[in-house]
Amino acid sequence: MKITDVQVIAFRVPVKGHGTKWGYGVFGKERPGVQRITKIATDVGAEGFAVGGEHGYFYAPTKNEVEHLVKPLLLGEEALDRERLWHMMMSHRGFSERLIGNIDCALWDLMGRIAGVPVAKLLGGAREKAKAYASTAPNLGPPEVYAQHALECKALGYKSYKVHAYIYWDPHKQEPAPRRPAFPKEDVAVCRAVREAVGDDIVLMLDPWGIYTYDEALYVGREIQKLNYYFFEHPMDENKLEPYRKLCEELDIPICGPELAPGSCYSRAEWVLQRASDIGRIDTNFGGITACRKAVDMYETMGLRCEMHVGGFGNAQILGATTEDTCEFFERGLLRPGEDYDVTPSYLNRPCDPMDDEGYVHLPQGHGLGVDFNWDYINDNLIQE
Ligand SMILES: [Mg+2]
Repeated sequence: MKITDVQVIAFRVPVKGHGTKWGYGVFGKERPGVQRITKIATDVGAEGFAVGGEHGYFYAPTKNEVEHLVKPLLLGEEALDRERLWHMMMSHRGFSERLIGNIDCALWDLMGRIAGVPVAKLLGGAREKAKAYASTAPNLGPPEVYAQHALECKALGYKSYKVHAYIYWDPHKQEPAPRRPAFPKEDVAVCRAVREAVGDDIVLMLDPWGIYTYDEALYVGREIQKLNYYFFEHPMDENKLEPYRKLCEELDIPICGPELAPGSCYSRAEWVLQRASDIGRIDTNFGGITACRKAVDMYETMGLRCEMHVGGFGNAQILGATTEDTCEFFERGLLRPGEDYDVTPSYLNRPCDPMDDEGYVHLPQGHGLGVDFNWDYINDNLIQE
């Protein structure tokens, strides 16, 4: 089954962009964004799709990238050789990990559609639902706003809640605070207010998104372990492993990461060797399902957990193919008070991650990645790039 074509289907979607030049922290007003579907076609008519763009987190290539990079490498290749094609892309200097991630997901989608099963079943089915945690947007307001929001999430059925506190944002001046300083004392106040509001039976985590110094991370880690937080995610710059190794030694609360370090499954192995985190982290933007599978299996064999970063269809398939002992949670968010997360995006007929009132996400069971595209919406909103 040869790959005969790779196409980009680009269309408009409404998005809420980040309102700071640091690309994180403050959400702006709704504006028109661009979403893209990569479509891989074969000589037997089978097709595979992977979606990404400005709505959500995942990357999808532009037409230009597909014409000049993807097609020259993939056209004429055997479509079912995902492992060989993954190695070809990984050793090609022009392919970013997130581009490989998109193409790899489309190849797995193709295989799942041919087989008539979800990708998780191809990988080795393990479960059809996963525990959710509510993942807040950062900078929601003062501690009482977080506390109230956590109670609302608890009422919706969430059993776990992850705080993104003040990130690139000065909570006193109510204005952007790019990069430095961080506000560790204020972050702890948020964590304390949330714990006091929800009680002891809700699992809590903190993610400061890498903005602390070592000393700040040590201080905050000691405070939130007293508050019985479950893990402490990505507290510092992930370019430096030694502070992470020291922090893991000093704290009892597990450190979760790396979230954004480049190097796909290979850098995750290095972090394990260096004992730079206690719980792993990856998502399909770092080399696709093939890379996530390698990383997750590596963590499992080392007796470590790996928390998948963000939701999305590719990650959902990894969750469906692993046990709760290795990948415990599905990240739902980012959540803001007063916003309905459960509205189905316009370009889909069905959301990726519906949650029941017990706090479980029911993983997509459609063939391939399980994306159910609303082609009427997509075809009505096509754009030429
Ligand atoms: Mg994070």
